[in-house]
Amino acid sequence: MNDYDVIVVGAGISGLLSALALSKHGNKVLVLEKSKFVGGNCNSYMVDGFQVDTGAHAITHLQVGPLRRLMDNYFDYAPVFEDYGNYYVRTENNFQKVPSNIKEFVTFDILPRKDRILITQAITKALTLSTFGTDLSKQSVYEFMQGNLSKDTYAFIDTICHFLSGKDMKQTSAQRILAGSSFVRDSVPEEQLETIIKENEKIAVETLPRTILPPNMHASLQTRLNRVSNPFTSLGRLATNKVAYSQGYPRKGLKGLLNAVLFSLPNTVEIKTGCEVKKILTDKGRVTGVQADEVYNAAKVIYTGFVTELPSMIETLPESYVQELKGVVHTKSLTVWTGLDSVMKEFNYIGSEIWFKDAPYWAMPISNYDASLAPKGKQLVGFSFIIDSEKSEEQQINKAYETIYNAVPAIEDHIEMKHNQITVPEKAAVTIDGYFADVRTPIKGLYAAGTDTDRRSMGITRAAYSIVELLKKMNEDGCLYK
Ligand SMILES: Cc1cc2nc3c(=O)[nH]c(=O)nc-3n(C[C@H](O)[C@H](O)[C@H](O)COP(=O)(O)OP(=O)(O)OC[C@H]3O[C@@H](n4cnc5c(N)ncnc54)[C@H](O)[C@@H]3O)c2cc1C
Repeated sequence: MNDYDVIVVGAGISGLLSALALSKHGNKVLVLEKSKFVGGNCNSYMVDGFQVDTGAHAITHLQVGPLRRLMDNYFDYAPVFEDYGNYYVRTENNFQKVPSNIKEFVTFDILPRKDRILITQAITKALTLSTFGTDLSKQSVYEFMQGNLSKDTYAFIDTICHFLSGKDMKQTSAQRILAGSSFVRDSVPEEQLETIIKENEKIAVETLPRTILPPNMHASLQTRLNRVSNPFTSLGRLATNKVAYSQGYPRKGLKGLLNAVLFSLPNTVEIKTGCEVKKILTDKGRVTGVQADEVYNAAKVIYTGFVTELPSMIETLPESYVQELKGVVHTKSLTVWTGLDSVMKEFNYIGSEIWFKDAPYWAMPISNYDASLAPKGKQLVGFSFIIDSEKSEEQQINKAYETIYNAVPAIEDHIEMKHNQITVPEKAAVTIDGYFADVRTPIKGLYAAGTDTDRRSMGITRAAYSIVELLKKMNEDGCLYK
């Protein structure tokens, strides 16, 4: 039986980022993953010659966000991000850029002019309140949308809410929209991370000298990021905001990001796949290890599965904590990947599109970023839908295909590969009342990390925020370093 300094449960991006950071602080780490593969929701695989991702992804806040800080401080191999491009909206007879600032709203004639004015006023009000310190995380988007808006406008706002929080506009907070549309930006200043991890530092973390990076690295995005100096004030963004600001798609797909983490892991990290953790072991309120295919001992355990499953893994959790975890809200998504026999003119753009009528989707022609994701001359497009876990999956899949054929009728004759994925995109949805657990649990030495432990941002950026928070709490508890 081997003993470790830290056991990480789960080898998704959160588990691997924690393993990377903790190992670079001198810890001997064991990662246990129940599935046969590492990566969780951050991965790519081949289907009939096409390389699909686990869901259509845009990686956000790459300039000063938490992932950037973790990459700068812990990665030996930096992933390359392609410029994300633009967000578009498709209707039966229109295809337009989604407005990301007030100026662009003026010409966005997919919605009636009267509604555009009301939306503009609502955004201005929300941003003004937020800039002057009002917390909008408990106020719904619906509350800000007073007035008689058309059915289409409500459907459009609802769609944006669904893709940002997984829920409708009555359950999505105004803060979520401001952050998701880049009016307010996520950031972890370098000095902040330094204070988080360097207070009790014993072992220096080597930062990557920029000079060793090949000159063409991140050619498209990195050059522009380097040029960005002082960000504009929040209110200034009403006129100049750019949604795609510092967003990117990893070259070679999501596995490009995953591989950068894996290749950066020192050999003090051991990973076991096909190894489900069934119990987390404790003694007198302290964690002592885990029970998987055998017992593994460690005084520190990082759990990155669903926090809602913790009560079934530990008998001694306080009842109040168990009750709080019941407040976590989950959503499900369906991604339909279509492999096309040729490059279609309808998908001749870089970025993504939304369809907001009936069954809304968010679609990305990912082979436009990297032609090697599809066989030569072919195209790969992913369509993500939010689905209702109470309703039949089969019916919702059929409805999804119906919607795609309705939105882009020509596609039906070009599909040569179909692949459906049903997943839970994030372990907690950011709704007004939805609960998020703390990274510190009531058990000493046991920490939770991942998208149900931090309500900031979304997806991989949120996972990275939770790791920054984990490092902070572990340092405060005096156990970040070995
Ligand atoms: C359709 C879709 C679209 C998305 N779009 C975006 C996007 O545009 N931008 C973005 O940033 N993010 C996006 N995401 C979200 C992003 O992929 C996830 O938030 C992120 O990958 C979650 O990482 P995680 O490590 O926290 O969780 P997971 O990926 O769920 O990893 C948890 C891992 O723990 C393992 N595990 C759980 N329990 C146990 C146990 N008891 N024992 C051992 N192993 C265990 C699981 O098998 C899994 O591998 C999207 C996701 C989906 C599905």
